[in-house]
Amino acid sequence: MPLFYYDAQVFKVYQIKQLLDDAKIPCVVKNDFAQGAIGELSPIDSAPEVWLVDESWRPRAQQRVDDFLAEQVALADDEDWQCAQCHEDNEANFGICWSCQTTR
Ligand SMILES: [Zn+2]
Repeated sequence: MPLFYYDAQVFKVYQIKQLLDDAKIPCVVKNDFAQGAIGELSPIDSAPEVWLVDESWRPRAQQRVDDFLAEQVALADDEDWQCAQCHEDNEANFGICWSCQTTR
C-alpha cells in the first residue's frame, strides 16, 4: 500500500482523508495516535499518515487534493482587504475602496 500524505498536524491529515473519502478513493490513516511504541514515541514524533489502498488511485487522489488547495487559495482571496491608501477596511467584493476609491 503506497503512502500518500503525512503531516504532523493531525487535523490536516484527517482533512485529506475526508477529501479522499468524499471522492470515493479508498484510503486509510495510520499512526493516528502513538500506535505501538509505548513510551518511546510521543504523538508528535509519530505523524499520522494517509495511505492509498492502491497506487492506481494516486492520480485521482492528487487531483482532488490539488483542487482542494486551489479552493482554499480562492477562499483566502475572498477575505476583506485594507486600503493601501487610507487604511480603511473593505469587503471582499469591493473592487475599489469605499472611502477614497483607490483600486484594490
Ligand atoms: Zn481607501
